[in-house]
Amino acid sequence: MRIRLDQIGDQPYTWNQTLEIPALEQEGQVLSRLSPVVWRGEIRRVVSDFLLHAHLSYEQTSTCSRCLGPAVSSVEETLELLIKIEEEAVEKEDDEEVEIELTQDDMGLLSLTSAEFDVEPLLIEQLQLNIPMRPLCRPDCRGLCPQCGTDLNQAACECGRREVDPRWAGLAALKNRLPDGPGGTADD
Ligand SMILES: [Zn+2]
Ligand SMILES: [Zn+2]
Repeated sequence: MRIRLDQIGDQPYTWNQTLEIPALEQEGQVLSRLSPVVWRGEIRRVVSDFLLHAHLSYEQTSTCSRCLGPAVSSVEETLELLIKIEEEAVEKEDDEEVEIELTQDDMGLLSLTSAEFDVEPLLIEQLQLNIPMRPLCRPDCRGLCPQCGTDLNQAACECGRREVDPRWAGLAALKNRLPDGPGGTADD
């Protein structure tokens, strides 16, 4: 969706879309599923600049970092940005394709090199930023047993029971070193 900012007058430009976007990838975190993204917003003129106010909502599915099961999360996000068009860009505008460069700083300021604004890269960028770094299927996911691979949310395994209580680990090690210990094993 390309918006001609220079054609926005007293009335803000508004949109309300539901977009199908292929699942994305960001720094090794992959989404296995991305619901249609409901995305609405407006851009209004503020003196010589433009103010973008948008809201997006969708559901994303990634892989739980503990149990490798699906981790579903809903995202509701409001976006506010001040858009500036750089002066030289306005003069160059008659050139056929003016490269649109998205440079967004932390203060929510977006500088454009053209009066034509494609909002989709901005949306994609937000979706990527919202991919969780360490997704969890639920906050208390118990994960997989590191020894036998059992999903500890579904079933218990025997591995944990044989684990030495950390408080006794030092004592067990000491016992193992004694020449007349019972066979060198800490338990049994
Ligand atoms: Zn999990
Ligand atoms: Zn186990």
